[in-house]
Amino acid sequence: MATMGAVTGRIAALELSNKKPGPTTSSARPPLRSKQSSQTSVAKLLTKYAAPNLVHASGSMKSTELTAQALSSTVATKAKVTGARTYTGNTPAPEITLSFDIGNYDGGLELENEKRGEKIFGEAAQELALDSSSAQTSPTREWSLHNFDMGRPLGKGKFGRVYMVRTKAKPKYILALKTLYKSEIVAGKVEKQIRREIEIQQNLRHQNVLRLYGYFHDEKRIFLMLEFAGKGELYKQLSKFGCFSEKRSSRYIDQMADALSYLHSKHVIHRDIKPENLLLGLNGELKIADFGWSVHAPGNRRRTMCGTLDYLPPEMVEGKEHSEKVDYWALGVLTYEFLIGNPPFEDRKSVNNTYRRIMKVDLRFPPGMSAEVKDLIARASFSCAISSIFVNLYEQLLRHEPQDRIPLVDVLGHPWIVKYRPKNCNRGSEVY
Ligand code: AMP
Repeated sequence: MATMGAVTGRIAALELSNKKPGPTTSSARPPLRSKQSSQTSVAKLLTKYAAPNLVHASGSMKSTELTAQALSSTVATKAKVTGARTYTGNTPAPEITLSFDIGNYDGGLELENEKRGEKIFGEAAQELALDSSSAQTSPTREWSLHNFDMGRPLGKGKFGRVYMVRTKAKPKYILALKTLYKSEIVAGKVEKQIRREIEIQQNLRHQNVLRLYGYFHDEKRIFLMLEFAGKGELYKQLSKFGCFSEKRSSRYIDQMADALSYLHSKHVIHRDIKPENLLLGLNGELKIADFGWSVHAPGNRRRTMCGTLDYLPPEMVEGKEHSEKVDYWALGVLTYEFLIGNPPFEDRKSVNNTYRRIMKVDLRFPPGMSAEVKDLIARASFSCAISSIFVNLYEQLLRHEPQDRIPLVDVLGHPWIVKYRPKNCNRGSEVY
């Protein structure tokens, strides 16, 4: 076991940014400092104490309950997964020595709160009085800042800072606490979007979807208790390495397809899949983290244009109705960007050209990509006549017509995905 000082130093060396990256272009990405060699072992240490996803046997939508009981069953779950501990949620938890450091708190929340944001009143104040303890179904216990030991800053978002925190009550879980300034939400006219984001994310349980355990508010701020993503932003990794190997890309796309298929089964369309919205867990597992553009749309077809230009599908560019198949398209764009380092239809000189290229599905494969992955992303349209009816034999992710896009279940069974999937990975049955 490492000494306290060594562990503190290593945690401080974990690479988590303070800055939101710029536009999705490889050249625009900021250079990154080199990875610290001790990062992996710190991640292993942290894994023992970070709050994992809670068990949800039925896999159905249900509100979060971060109660003492839920927390102890969480630990029991983790014990089953890792074999690290062997008690159950029904018996008293044995003493856990939580001696490692969550880093130094810089006092940033209080300092910032003095200078930033204003009190809000009226309807907006009511709309943003968000508290998971008063949720109509399965309310959580009441939370406030006093329930946490504050740790080091993890980053700064558009509406406030994110801190690494630990619950004071045992079993002392490590979380990421995100602050959002209400007046800035109101100024940005995104009250509804934020409410929707919180409501949607709080009801999701999947190992590749960042958990939202609870939320509370004070006069000026909303606080989100998020699963701690120990390896930070995937975007940073991509900018550091330029692109990923086929093996690494395939493993990420496997996790993405599984997570999206879960979201769609809950009638949630994400609509803004891109590297900037993905975080990495302590074991390097992918976590879909931003639900700002997501929508809960059971049976509905939508028209709103949203998401990020380079990831927009033809039906959104053309202002047509769209469905969950927009996420299939984005998955194809993501696969390409992982492998090549920039999105396929990007044209840095002209937005209109990007639109034009998207509508024509003007895709160019640089040399070196395997035939298997090209088969998953897109292939020249191929049809054959059977009894004078033209039937599409092959489906891929980047197809102009949403109905021609390969279903996620077939992505999960695609040779390029299966080839790199770890042997012990039981895809589809890992809903926590
Ligand atoms: P955001 O406001 O979501 O853009 O977050 C700002 C920054 O905080 C991100 O760019 C991440 O570096 C970091 N961050 C946000 N959420 C988490 C989390 N759950 N775990 C670890 N770091 C996070």
